[in-house]
Amino acid sequence: MSPPVAPRCTPPPGYQGAMDIVLATFNAKYIHASFGLRYLHANLGELQPRATIVELDTGMAPLDAVEVLLAHEPRVIGLGVYVWNATLTLAVVELLKALRTDLPVVIGGPEVSHEVDAQPLCALADVVVIGEGDLAFADICRKLLAGEAVEHVVRGGLPDLATLKLPYDLYTAEDLAQRVVYVEASRGCPFLCAFCLSALDAGVRRFDEDAFLAALGALHDRGLRNFKFVDRTFNLSVASCKRILGFFLERLDPALFVHFELIPDRLPAELKGFIAAFPPGTLQFEIGIQTFDAEVAARIDRRHVPAQIEANLTWLRENTGVHLHTDLIVGLPGEDVALFAAGFDRLFALGPQEIQVGILKRLRGAPIARHTDAWGMVYSPRPPYEVLQTGAIPFASMQAMKRFARFWGLLANTGHYRHTLPLLLAGGSPFARFFALSEALGARFGRSHGIASGRLVEALYEHGAAEGIALPTLGRALIADLLNTGRLPLPDLLRPYATEEERLIRKARPAPREGHARQEAHGTRAQVPG
Ligand code: SF4
Repeated sequence: MSPPVAPRCTPPPGYQGAMDIVLATFNAKYIHASFGLRYLHANLGELQPRATIVELDTGMAPLDAVEVLLAHEPRVIGLGVYVWNATLTLAVVELLKALRTDLPVVIGGPEVSHEVDAQPLCALADVVVIGEGDLAFADICRKLLAGEAVEHVVRGGLPDLATLKLPYDLYTAEDLAQRVVYVEASRGCPFLCAFCLSALDAGVRRFDEDAFLAALGALHDRGLRNFKFVDRTFNLSVASCKRILGFFLERLDPALFVHFELIPDRLPAELKGFIAAFPPGTLQFEIGIQTFDAEVAARIDRRHVPAQIEANLTWLRENTGVHLHTDLIVGLPGEDVALFAAGFDRLFALGPQEIQVGILKRLRGAPIARHTDAWGMVYSPRPPYEVLQTGAIPFASMQAMKRFARFWGLLANTGHYRHTLPLLLAGGSPFARFFALSEALGARFGRSHGIASGRLVEALYEHGAAEGIALPTLGRALIADLLNTGRLPLPDLLRPYATEEERLIRKARPAPREGHARQEAHGTRAQVPG
């Protein structure tokens, strides 16, 4: 009898042989290419050929992730930790430490840059890098590979951006073709919004503009047309803004799409001219409003001028084809549902294409923690640390607001019901109308995800009918939405309102969206900035 044959292991995708240094993270989705890992890799100096990047996703089982990491036979593992992957990273590090006590694990990222002593993950890791680790990580690896001791906590500090090697060459052809590619002309933010980790930054630092534009040019030459800027406040420096917009104006083509985050009350005339020169659908602005209430804004150290925001959003809607992605936050200290509703209706009236309704999070290290006692703030102890209730919004109401946020995302921000929603929201406060709808949907389905399109259409139809909308009008709007998004054949309840031709359509190509398909927000962020 022949001896048993040892099973052959399958190398993980992208395996390039043994590597001394494995740089890894769990991305929220495949589409988000990790910008941070590429910076670390680019700045490894002579160690770069001994390192590899391993991008995993949050749907992965911890054991499978450990198998992939160890397959590279690393001598150092570096893990990027964010609010969306903190729990999974802890499970992975627990397994790594059980299997390989000799293998140093270095962690870094916003989630482990604060409250280090309170985190089991930090206690387990050999080295915790606080702050920007672009240069510190290389030093740590040099020492670890040489068998030298490294402090448990290493402060990355704020590297001089002129000394950093830019990471853009590390975006692969697949990244450029299939994923969100991040770029940054600056780091930091001069503002102090209490819910945001950028409030801890020591001002704004800018990359050398010539080098940055050369890197953008190289990406463009390689075929990239979809650029996502992660600068906290892109329109802070008007001169720089004009130069970057000018770069893209010289390269206009129908495939170009550029995303920026803006502060909403700063849009001088000289900038407006540049913005207005772009064809519709080329630019997307993410604009954080968060609250329209002056007292709440002051409480969280958010300085903005609501009248100026209204004027600028109105100008953008009337004079440009910019896709406006705006943000509001539920659960700010002292803001009750009525105040939030007033702000929502005020923003809705300005007509942005998207209103992202975010739920406040108490990110580790964010100054918002100082309001906890005074304003009755209760947060989930687990990532992403969403607010559970406040002195102004009790738990049950907060749950209703979370349903509102999820159904708003599903029905409004996707653009799937652009004919039907105006009917459902007409005749009163859009907030109140949609709140009633989201509560009806919550009661009917008991959840806000995984609802079959046909059942959702049926629910919208019945809700609209109960609200007194003329059935032929409602039916025609739903048919238009289903035809636009290719969700066919039409359900039976809509067939009486369909033309003969529409009844026969079994398949349709979705109509092009207004402008470019929107980019997903927060690929690199933990909480609505801007
Ligand atoms: S929310 Fe925006 S403006 Fe405020 S600190 Fe954060 S990045 Fe800066």
